[in-house]
Amino acid sequence: MPPSRRRYIRTAPDGEGKRAVFIGKRDQCVAGFPAKNLKIHNGSPVCCQNTELFTRLHAAQKAVGFENGKGAAKPPRIKNSLIHDTEPCIEREICVIACFTVLAHAARHMIYFPEEDAGRCMSDYRLGIDVGGTKLEIAALDSKGEILLRHRVANPGNYDDLLLALRDLVQQGRAHTAPDATVGLGIPGAIDSRTLRVKNANATWLNGQTFGKDLEQVLGCPVKVENDANCFALSEAVDGAAAGRNVVFGVILGSGVGGGFVINGQPLTGLHHIAGEWGHIPLPWVREDEFPMPACFCGNSGCLERFLCGPALAEAWKGPGTRSADGIEEAAAAGDETARRALDTYVDRLGRACALVINMVDPDAIVLGGGVSNLETLYERVPAVMKKYAITPDCRTELLKNRHGDSSGVRGAAWLWGK
Ligand SMILES: [Zn+2]
Repeated sequence: MPPSRRRYIRTAPDGEGKRAVFIGKRDQCVAGFPAKNLKIHNGSPVCCQNTELFTRLHAAQKAVGFENGKGAAKPPRIKNSLIHDTEPCIEREICVIACFTVLAHAARHMIYFPEEDAGRCMSDYRLGIDVGGTKLEIAALDSKGEILLRHRVANPGNYDDLLLALRDLVQQGRAHTAPDATVGLGIPGAIDSRTLRVKNANATWLNGQTFGKDLEQVLGCPVKVENDANCFALSEAVDGAAAGRNVVFGVILGSGVGGGFVINGQPLTGLHHIAGEWGHIPLPWVREDEFPMPACFCGNSGCLERFLCGPALAEAWKGPGTRSADGIEEAAAAGDETARRALDTYVDRLGRACALVINMVDPDAIVLGGGVSNLETLYERVPAVMKKYAITPDCRTELLKNRHGDSSGVRGAAWLWGK
């Protein structure tokens, strides 16, 4: 091929120091692909295994469906060109490689990716939707995590209308961002990994539905669905209060109690999709005066939710039927003895419950969300209780207040597709 006709593939830092991938005739770049967060054609991120370049290349090819197809990039050839053309990778190397594989294929077949098609490989935009019992909320985020659109509508309360309402929200979100913006959803329940049906949702009409699958059909694109507590934890682990920590436990202390683990940026789901269901483990290190244990809706008694939910704190202060503990700190400071005692007990129980998680999983940080997380006294006093019960003399686990507050649900749902 004469030099003037040679196509080339190279990497170059874009304006923000990230890597971008270009393909085209020399001095005539036809498409720029930001390599960060690259999602290849089938929408699956490729894991970066610490193995030979060849193996990773092959995996990347396989993932984009080029390994056996006509004109498939032959690994040795690509390997040579990559070694020649790329610098040592900084991060997400496999994504860059996958992109190279796609582009190398395109180059050989003289396929040019017009700018507007670049998003087919990867979108820079994420739509996160929080499916609550009474409302649906969408946020559209750019790759830096800036919220470009936030919108809230009522949950129609039945399954068919829910799918249509979500379709409309996605259309709005894409109109504000890009037609290929990814779609992630947080739900107040879990998708059973075996049956793909929703379970444990408090919006009970959602239980038993093949929600993710049905929504994919309505939208015509892949979606990711995750438990809302896991979305909260993911949001805080990715770019929230616990950004940069490897193992994060996110806790919601609201009208109920939930929790979720994020490990190295990925939500931990577990075999039954119930990992982090902290609300339904028993209160640990129980004192004699704490018996008898209160019954829980799940059928057991003594579950953490019965002690740590907002209404439990409110009732300990103002008696049965109270739902809100707003103002309890101020009341305690002003000499309200019942408020002080209720807070003391709450702090002690929350500390024990956190210590149990520390002894089991040893997270770098525990992030609190939900209404009760606004009590400043928790961050001042609970760590001492955690230290007392954790089986290590130097407990350094941080107890952090959430950074994104009410936005954590939608942000975490958006980051299911990676930041
Ligand atoms: Zn329970």
